[in-house]
Amino acid sequence: MIDENDLSVSNLVKLYDCNLFELGERADEIRQNLHQKKVYFNLNKHINPSNICADICKFCAFSAHRKNPNPYEMTKDEIIFEAQKAYANGAMEFHIVSSHNPNYKYEWYFDIFKTLKDNFKDIHIKAMTAAEVDFLHRKFNKSYKQILEDMVESGVDSMPGGGAEIFDEEIRNHICKGKVSSQNWLEIHQIWHSMGKKSNATMLFGHIEKREHRIAHMLKIRELQEQSGGFNAFIPLLYQKQNNFLDVKDFPSGIEILKTIAISRIVLSNVPNIKAYWATLGLNLAMVAQEFGANDIDGTIERENIQSAGGANSKKGLSKEMLISQIKDAGFVPVLRDSLYNELESF
Ligand code: SF4
Repeated sequence: MIDENDLSVSNLVKLYDCNLFELGERADEIRQNLHQKKVYFNLNKHINPSNICADICKFCAFSAHRKNPNPYEMTKDEIIFEAQKAYANGAMEFHIVSSHNPNYKYEWYFDIFKTLKDNFKDIHIKAMTAAEVDFLHRKFNKSYKQILEDMVESGVDSMPGGGAEIFDEEIRNHICKGKVSSQNWLEIHQIWHSMGKKSNATMLFGHIEKREHRIAHMLKIRELQEQSGGFNAFIPLLYQKQNNFLDVKDFPSGIEILKTIAISRIVLSNVPNIKAYWATLGLNLAMVAQEFGANDIDGTIERENIQSAGGANSKKGLSKEMLISQIKDAGFVPVLRDSLYNELESF
Protein backbone atom coordinates (compact mmCIF):
# COMPACT_ATOMS: atom_id res chain seq x y z
CA MET A 1 0.00 0.00 0.00
CA ILE A 2 1.04 3.60 -0.43
CA ASP A 3 1.64 6.37 2.12
CA GLU A 4 -1.91 7.61 2.88
CA ASN A 5 -0.57 10.77 4.48
CA ASP A 6 0.80 12.03 1.18
CA LEU A 7 -2.35 13.80 -0.02
CA SER A 8 -1.24 14.46 -3.57
CA VAL A 9 -3.19 13.27 -6.59
CA SER A 10 -0.06 11.67 -8.07
CA ASN A 11 0.42 9.59 -4.93
CA LEU A 12 -3.19 8.65 -4.16
CA VAL A 13 -3.99 7.67 -7.73
CA LYS A 14 -1.54 4.79 -7.22
CA LEU A 15 -4.18 3.23 -4.96
CA TYR A 16 -5.88 2.11 -8.16
CA ASP A 17 -2.80 -0.02 -8.95
CA CYS A 18 -3.26 -2.00 -5.74
CA ASN A 19 -4.94 -5.36 -5.71
CA LEU A 20 -8.71 -5.05 -5.16
CA PHE A 21 -8.66 -7.25 -2.06
CA GLU A 22 -5.75 -5.37 -0.55
CA LEU A 23 -7.66 -2.13 -1.05
CA GLY A 24 -10.85 -3.68 0.27
CA GLU A 25 -9.07 -4.87 3.38
CA ARG A 26 -7.75 -1.39 4.15
CA ALA A 27 -11.11 0.26 3.42
CA ASP A 28 -12.89 -2.33 5.55
CA GLU A 29 -10.52 -1.66 8.43
CA ILE A 30 -11.52 2.03 8.42
CA ARG A 31 -15.19 1.09 8.00
CA GLN A 32 -15.12 -1.43 10.87
CA ASN A 33 -13.47 1.09 13.18
CA LEU A 34 -16.23 3.59 12.46
CA HIS A 35 -19.29 1.40 12.01
CA GLN A 36 -18.43 -2.23 12.80
CA LYS A 37 -20.84 -4.49 10.84
CA LYS A 38 -23.65 -1.95 10.59
CA VAL A 39 -25.25 -1.03 7.28
CA TYR A 40 -27.37 2.08 7.49
CA PHE A 41 -30.58 2.72 5.59
CA ASN A 42 -33.46 5.13 5.95
CA LEU A 43 -37.14 5.40 5.05
CA ASN A 44 -37.21 8.12 2.47
CA LYS A 45 -39.34 9.37 -0.37
CA HIS A 46 -37.82 10.94 -3.44
CA ILE A 47 -39.87 13.74 -4.95
CA ASN A 48 -38.79 15.17 -8.31
CA PRO A 49 -41.31 17.95 -8.99
CA SER A 50 -40.40 18.58 -12.63
CA ASN A 51 -38.10 17.46 -15.45
CA ILE A 52 -38.33 20.64 -17.54
CA CYS A 53 -34.84 22.08 -17.44
CA ALA A 54 -33.08 25.25 -18.52
CA ASP A 55 -29.74 23.42 -18.57
CA ILE A 56 -28.56 20.69 -20.92
CA CYS A 57 -26.24 18.22 -19.20
CA LYS A 58 -25.08 15.62 -21.69
CA PHE A 59 -25.18 12.78 -19.16
CA CYS A 60 -28.76 13.49 -18.12
CA ALA A 61 -31.61 11.22 -19.18
CA PHE A 62 -34.08 12.75 -16.75
CA SER A 63 -34.67 16.21 -18.21
CA ALA A 64 -37.16 16.68 -21.03
CA HIS A 65 -35.37 16.75 -24.39
CA ARG A 66 -35.56 14.78 -27.58
CA LYS A 67 -34.42 11.53 -25.94
CA ASN A 68 -36.97 12.01 -23.20
CA PRO A 69 -39.87 13.86 -24.80
CA ASN A 70 -42.15 13.62 -21.75
CA PRO A 71 -42.04 16.91 -19.88
CA TYR A 72 -43.89 17.10 -16.58
CA GLU A 73 -44.55 19.55 -13.79
CA MET A 74 -46.20 18.22 -10.64
CA THR A 75 -48.82 20.48 -9.14
CA LYS A 76 -48.65 21.35 -5.48
CA ASP A 77 -51.61 19.02 -4.85
CA GLU A 78 -49.85 16.16 -6.62
CA ILE A 79 -46.74 16.69 -4.52
CA ILE A 80 -48.77 16.69 -1.32
CA PHE A 81 -50.67 13.59 -2.43
CA GLU A 82 -47.42 11.69 -3.11
CA ALA A 83 -45.95 12.92 0.16
CA GLN A 84 -49.06 11.86 2.07
CA LYS A 85 -48.91 8.31 0.70
CA ALA A 86 -45.23 7.97 1.56
CA TYR A 87 -45.67 9.46 5.03
CA ALA A 88 -48.51 7.04 5.77
CA ASN A 89 -46.14 4.30 4.66
CA GLY A 90 -43.52 5.38 7.19
CA ALA A 91 -41.31 7.79 5.23
CA MET A 92 -39.31 10.02 7.54
CA GLU A 93 -37.49 12.05 4.92
CA PHE A 94 -38.59 13.81 1.74
CA HIS A 95 -35.67 14.07 -0.64
CA ILE A 96 -36.70 16.80 -3.06
CA VAL A 97 -34.62 17.47 -6.15
CA SER A 98 -35.88 19.04 -9.33
CA SER A 99 -34.70 20.09 -12.76
CA HIS A 100 -33.88 23.78 -13.28
CA ASN A 101 -37.39 24.65 -14.34
CA PRO A 102 -37.47 28.10 -15.99
CA ASN A 103 -41.22 28.40 -15.35
CA TYR A 104 -41.02 28.34 -11.57
CA LYS A 105 -41.11 31.55 -9.59
CA TYR A 106 -38.59 31.96 -6.77
CA GLU A 107 -41.32 31.53 -4.14
CA TRP A 108 -42.53 28.23 -5.63
CA TYR A 109 -39.78 26.22 -3.98
CA PHE A 110 -40.17 27.71 -0.52
CA ASP A 111 -43.94 27.45 -0.60
CA ILE A 112 -43.65 23.70 -1.29
CA PHE A 113 -41.12 23.15 1.50
CA LYS A 114 -43.20 25.12 3.98
CA THR A 115 -46.41 23.32 3.06
CA LEU A 116 -44.77 19.91 3.48
CA LYS A 117 -43.17 20.91 6.75
CA ASP A 118 -46.48 22.24 8.11
CA ASN A 119 -48.43 19.15 7.05
CA PHE A 120 -46.14 16.30 8.07
CA LYS A 121 -45.04 16.24 11.66
CA ASP A 122 -41.33 15.55 12.27
CA ILE A 123 -40.57 15.08 8.59
CA HIS A 124 -36.99 15.78 7.56
CA ILE A 125 -36.73 17.78 4.35
CA LYS A 126 -33.57 17.21 2.38
CA ALA A 127 -33.81 19.48 -0.62
CA MET A 128 -32.06 21.64 -3.21
CA THR A 129 -28.77 20.58 -4.67
CA ALA A 130 -26.05 23.22 -4.89
CA ALA A 131 -26.75 23.21 -8.65
CA GLU A 132 -30.34 24.27 -7.97
CA VAL A 133 -29.19 26.93 -5.52
CA ASP A 134 -26.82 28.25 -8.19
CA PHE A 135 -29.65 28.21 -10.74
CA LEU A 136 -31.85 30.35 -8.46
CA HIS A 137 -28.89 32.66 -7.87
CA ARG A 138 -28.43 33.17 -11.62
CA LYS A 139 -32.11 33.46 -12.45
CA PHE A 140 -33.31 35.65 -9.59
CA ASN A 141 -30.13 37.51 -8.76
CA LYS A 142 -30.17 36.44 -5.11
CA SER A 143 -27.02 35.72 -3.14
CA TYR A 144 -26.24 32.14 -2.13
CA LYS A 145 -26.58 33.16 1.50
CA GLN A 146 -30.04 34.62 0.95
CA ILE A 147 -31.26 31.49 -0.85
CA LEU A 148 -29.86 29.20 1.83
CA GLU A 149 -31.49 31.31 4.55
CA ASP A 150 -34.81 31.13 2.71
CA MET A 151 -34.42 27.36 2.57
CA VAL A 152 -33.90 27.17 6.33
CA GLU A 153 -36.79 29.56 6.92
CA SER A 154 -39.15 27.39 4.88
CA GLY A 155 -38.15 24.14 6.60
CA VAL A 156 -35.26 22.59 4.68
CA ASP A 157 -33.20 20.57 7.16
CA SER A 158 -30.30 19.34 5.07
CA MET A 159 -28.95 19.47 1.53
CA PRO A 160 -28.41 16.53 -0.81
CA GLY A 161 -25.05 16.11 -2.49
CA GLY A 162 -26.10 16.30 -6.13
CA GLY A 163 -24.72 18.54 -8.86
CA ALA A 164 -21.09 17.97 -7.89
CA GLU A 165 -20.53 15.70 -10.90
CA ILE A 166 -16.74 15.80 -11.21
CA PHE A 167 -14.70 18.79 -10.05
CA ASP A 168 -12.80 19.55 -13.23
CA GLU A 169 -13.82 22.54 -15.31
CA GLU A 170 -12.70 21.06 -18.63
CA ILE A 171 -14.83 17.98 -18.11
CA ARG A 172 -17.71 20.04 -16.76
CA ASN A 173 -17.57 22.16 -19.89
CA HIS A 174 -18.07 19.03 -21.88
CA ILE A 175 -20.69 17.22 -19.81
CA CYS A 176 -22.65 20.00 -18.05
CA LYS A 177 -21.67 23.35 -19.50
CA GLY A 178 -23.34 26.28 -17.80
CA LYS A 179 -24.19 24.41 -14.62
CA VAL A 180 -22.70 25.38 -11.24
CA SER A 181 -18.87 25.45 -11.28
CA SER A 182 -16.84 23.24 -8.94
CA GLN A 183 -15.76 26.24 -6.91
CA ASN A 184 -19.31 27.53 -6.51
CA TRP A 185 -20.63 24.08 -5.58
CA LEU A 186 -18.07 23.96 -2.79
CA GLU A 187 -18.78 27.55 -1.75
CA ILE A 188 -22.52 26.86 -1.42
CA HIS A 189 -21.88 23.85 0.82
CA GLN A 190 -19.32 25.81 2.80
CA ILE A 191 -21.89 28.56 3.50
CA TRP A 192 -24.54 25.94 4.38
CA HIS A 193 -22.15 24.29 6.83
CA SER A 194 -21.27 27.66 8.35
CA MET A 195 -24.98 28.01 9.15
CA GLY A 196 -24.71 24.86 11.28
CA LYS A 197 -26.34 22.63 8.67
CA LYS A 198 -25.32 19.28 7.21
CA SER A 199 -25.12 18.03 3.65
CA ASN A 200 -23.84 15.19 1.51
CA ALA A 201 -21.40 15.18 -1.39
CA THR A 202 -21.60 13.13 -4.59
CA MET A 203 -19.18 12.30 -7.39
CA LEU A 204 -20.40 11.16 -10.81
CA PHE A 205 -17.92 8.63 -12.15
CA GLY A 206 -17.61 6.13 -14.96
CA HIS A 207 -18.03 8.52 -17.90
CA ILE A 208 -15.20 10.49 -19.53
CA GLU A 209 -13.27 11.31 -16.37
CA LYS A 210 -9.95 9.66 -15.52
CA ARG A 211 -8.89 8.16 -12.20
CA GLU A 212 -6.88 11.32 -11.46
CA HIS A 213 -10.04 13.41 -11.68
CA ARG A 214 -11.79 11.20 -9.13
CA ILE A 215 -8.91 11.53 -6.68
CA ALA A 216 -8.76 15.32 -7.18
CA HIS A 217 -12.52 15.46 -6.59
CA MET A 218 -12.26 13.48 -3.34
CA LEU A 219 -9.44 15.72 -2.15
CA LYS A 220 -11.54 18.85 -2.64
CA ILE A 221 -14.30 17.32 -0.51
CA ARG A 222 -11.73 16.27 2.06
CA GLU A 223 -10.32 19.80 2.19
CA LEU A 224 -13.72 21.44 2.77
CA GLN A 225 -14.61 18.78 5.33
CA GLU A 226 -11.40 19.59 7.18
CA GLN A 227 -12.61 23.19 7.56
CA SER A 228 -16.35 22.77 8.05
CA GLY A 229 -17.04 19.20 9.19
CA GLY A 230 -20.45 19.52 7.53
CA PHE A 231 -20.52 16.50 5.23
CA ASN A 232 -22.39 13.47 6.55
CA ALA A 233 -21.78 11.18 3.62
CA PHE A 234 -19.87 10.83 0.38
CA ILE A 235 -21.75 9.14 -2.45
CA PRO A 236 -19.86 7.91 -5.52
CA LEU A 237 -22.62 7.86 -8.18
CA LEU A 238 -22.10 5.48 -11.05
CA TYR A 239 -22.88 7.09 -14.41
CA GLN A 240 -25.97 5.59 -16.09
CA LYS A 241 -25.40 5.22 -19.79
CA GLN A 242 -28.83 5.03 -21.40
CA ASN A 243 -30.91 7.76 -23.05
CA ASN A 244 -28.42 10.60 -22.98
CA PHE A 245 -26.06 12.51 -25.26
CA LEU A 246 -22.73 11.54 -23.75
CA ASP A 247 -20.85 9.16 -25.98
CA VAL A 248 -19.12 6.85 -23.50
CA LYS A 249 -17.40 3.79 -24.95
CA ASP A 250 -15.90 2.14 -21.88
CA PHE A 251 -18.07 1.36 -18.92
CA PRO A 252 -16.16 0.73 -15.66
CA SER A 253 -15.81 -2.91 -14.60
CA GLY A 254 -17.14 -4.15 -11.27
CA ILE A 255 -13.55 -4.15 -10.03
CA GLU A 256 -13.07 -0.49 -11.00
CA ILE A 257 -16.33 0.44 -9.27
CA LEU A 258 -15.40 -1.38 -6.06
CA LYS A 259 -11.92 0.12 -6.12
CA THR A 260 -13.46 3.59 -6.43
CA ILE A 261 -15.66 2.95 -3.39
CA ALA A 262 -12.75 1.53 -1.36
CA ILE A 263 -10.52 4.47 -2.34
CA SER A 264 -13.30 6.91 -1.34
CA ARG A 265 -13.29 5.33 2.12
CA ILE A 266 -9.50 5.58 2.38
CA VAL A 267 -9.09 9.12 1.00
CA LEU A 268 -12.13 10.53 2.79
CA SER A 269 -11.25 9.23 6.21
CA ASN A 270 -12.67 12.48 7.65
CA VAL A 271 -16.17 11.93 6.18
CA PRO A 272 -18.10 9.59 8.46
CA ASN A 273 -20.18 7.69 5.92
CA ILE A 274 -19.64 6.28 2.43
CA LYS A 275 -22.86 5.48 0.67
CA ALA A 276 -23.14 2.78 -1.98
CA TYR A 277 -26.31 4.14 -3.54
CA TRP A 278 -28.27 1.08 -4.64
CA ALA A 279 -30.24 3.10 -7.21
CA THR A 280 -27.13 3.52 -9.37
CA LEU A 281 -25.11 0.42 -8.43
CA GLY A 282 -27.95 -2.08 -8.30
CA LEU A 283 -28.76 -3.75 -4.99
CA ASN A 284 -26.33 -6.66 -5.38
CA LEU A 285 -23.26 -4.55 -6.10
CA ALA A 286 -24.32 -2.07 -3.39
CA MET A 287 -24.30 -4.97 -0.94
CA VAL A 288 -20.87 -6.18 -2.09
CA ALA A 289 -19.63 -2.58 -1.74
CA GLN A 290 -20.34 -2.82 2.00
CA GLU A 291 -17.32 -5.13 2.18
CA PHE A 292 -15.20 -2.54 0.37
CA GLY A 293 -15.63 0.49 2.59
CA ALA A 294 -19.25 1.54 2.19
CA ASN A 295 -21.55 1.52 5.24
CA ASP A 296 -24.84 2.82 3.84
CA ILE A 297 -27.13 1.91 0.94
CA ASP A 298 -29.57 4.87 1.07
CA GLY A 299 -33.21 3.97 1.61
CA THR A 300 -36.58 2.86 0.38
CA ILE A 301 -36.82 5.85 -2.05
CA GLU A 302 -40.41 4.82 -3.01
CA ARG A 303 -40.21 6.25 -6.51
CA GLU A 304 -37.08 7.30 -8.32
CA ASN A 305 -37.09 9.22 -11.58
CA ILE A 306 -33.57 10.51 -12.18
CA GLN A 307 -31.31 7.44 -12.25
CA SER A 308 -34.02 5.16 -13.62
CA ALA A 309 -34.37 7.44 -16.65
CA GLY A 310 -30.75 6.60 -17.42
CA GLY A 311 -31.25 2.84 -17.17
CA ALA A 312 -31.05 2.14 -13.42
CA ASN A 313 -33.46 -0.41 -11.99
CA SER A 314 -34.71 1.89 -9.25
CA LYS A 315 -38.03 3.26 -10.48
CA LYS A 316 -40.18 1.59 -7.84
CA GLY A 317 -37.93 1.83 -4.79
CA LEU A 318 -37.59 -1.00 -2.28
CA SER A 319 -39.54 -2.07 0.77
CA LYS A 320 -38.08 -1.78 4.25
CA GLU A 321 -38.39 -5.57 4.67
CA MET A 322 -36.48 -6.19 1.46
CA LEU A 323 -33.64 -3.89 2.53
CA ILE A 324 -33.42 -5.53 5.95
CA SER A 325 -33.35 -9.06 4.58
CA GLN A 326 -30.76 -8.23 1.91
CA ILE A 327 -28.47 -6.61 4.48
CA LYS A 328 -28.85 -9.55 6.86
CA ASP A 329 -28.28 -12.10 4.09
CA ALA A 330 -25.02 -10.34 3.29
CA GLY A 331 -23.85 -10.86 6.87
CA PHE A 332 -24.30 -7.29 8.11
CA VAL A 333 -26.49 -5.64 10.76
CA PRO A 334 -29.25 -3.47 9.27
CA VAL A 335 -29.61 -0.19 11.15
CA LEU A 336 -32.44 2.21 10.48
CA ARG A 337 -31.07 5.75 10.69
CA ASP A 338 -32.56 9.19 10.40
CA SER A 339 -31.38 11.69 7.80
CA LEU A 340 -28.55 12.90 10.04
CA TYR A 341 -27.30 9.39 10.80
CA ASN A 342 -28.75 9.09 14.28
CA GLU A 343 -29.44 5.39 14.87
CA LEU A 344 -33.13 4.60 15.37
CA GLU A 345 -33.43 0.82 15.30
CA SER A 346 -31.20 -2.14 14.77
CA PHE A 347 -32.56 -5.39 13.26
S1 SF4 B 1 -28.70 17.00 -14.61
FE1 SF4 B 1 -30.14 18.43 -13.69
S2 SF4 B 1 -29.50 20.42 -14.46
FE2 SF4 B 1 -28.58 18.89 -15.82
S3 SF4 B 1 -30.07 18.66 -17.49
FE3 SF4 B 1 -30.52 17.08 -15.96
S4 SF4 B 1 -32.12 18.00 -14.70
FE4 SF4 B 1 -31.13 19.67 -15.83
